[in-house]
Amino acid sequence: MNDAAFAGFEAFLADRDEFLVTAHIDPDGDAVGSCLALALALRDIGKTPEVVFDSPLPATLRFLPGASTILLPDQVRKKFDSAFVLDSSSLDRTGSVPERCLNPGAKIAVIDHHWGNDGFGDIRLVNPEASATAELVYDVIEFLRIPISPEIAEGLYAGILSDTGGFRYANTSSRTLRVAARLVERGARAPLVADALYATKTAPSLRILGLALASLETRSGGRIGAMTISRDMFEQAGAAPEDADGIVQYAKALAGARVGMLVQEVAPNEIRASLRSDGTVDVNQVASLFGGGGHRNAAGLRVRGDLQRVRNDLYEALERAMNGGPPPSGG
Ligand code: 5GP
Ligand code: MN
Repeated sequence: MNDAAFAGFEAFLADRDEFLVTAHIDPDGDAVGSCLALALALRDIGKTPEVVFDSPLPATLRFLPGASTILLPDQVRKKFDSAFVLDSSSLDRTGSVPERCLNPGAKIAVIDHHWGNDGFGDIRLVNPEASATAELVYDVIEFLRIPISPEIAEGLYAGILSDTGGFRYANTSSRTLRVAARLVERGARAPLVADALYATKTAPSLRILGLALASLETRSGGRIGAMTISRDMFEQAGAAPEDADGIVQYAKALAGARVGMLVQEVAPNEIRASLRSDGTVDVNQVASLFGGGGHRNAAGLRVRGDLQRVRNDLYEALERAMNGGPPPSGG
């Protein structure tokens, strides 16, 4: 633990009352859980936080305590001088939020766990060893001696559960499990969070899942499993991009696949791709070739272009990375 970094947060809070709290676009359980937990903690010590995301929440995360208070940028009536930016490797990952909701020269505190964090912000706690940003927000709240209410605990627990894939990924350390246990002691409802994240799907998200599953393509002798969602498929399913959250797991589940990929046309000619690896391929590096990023085993990107063309470019880049990378473990 780096006490100097934590003390920076204490000073940042002491001087200010109003805070914008945000995280990356297409917010996932870690982004939403971390922001809500931090905002609840700030409110508990008399501050005025406002949680804003550039894109709507997936329906399955709306159960989180405080979720109903989250705003989109056009619902924010003022500009802030201070912000917490969480779970984002660079400021532009938050979309239009800084431009629309921050005054020029606003001070920014960063809490993040991405390897490729570019160093933005004024006060920083960035630790790529952490399983989730929520694990770091937990440390900050503990350092500040803010009591962890059941609502705070549940947001943090959801963040950790989400970024560890339900405590299944390699980022699940003994420390992660100890923090999670502490959060359950503090009132996080573990079965409810697990059910919301892993066993609840809206009708549009089930329909888009069905179409995506049927689109499965295998490449490289089965080393890549890929699914594709076109605009037409979103329309047919009555689904929005946030309804497709988590579908990439099914591409990665293909037996023998080293990489799972989901390529979606989220708006006309606007392509979002999600990559998941078994650890033998650094998908963060592959994503960064396309201006994206993330982690070794989970990364993403957004580019403009034709859906099929982007998918083919990704196949080629993945094949190059696999041929240069270490051999698959266990054959
Ligand atoms: P997902 O595939 O779930 O959208 O994202 C997987 C991981 O990659 C997350 O850590 C996410 O923050 C990161 N990621 C996704 N899209 C982008 C992107 O366009 N740029 C960067 N830098 N990271 C991304
Ligand atoms: Mn995260």
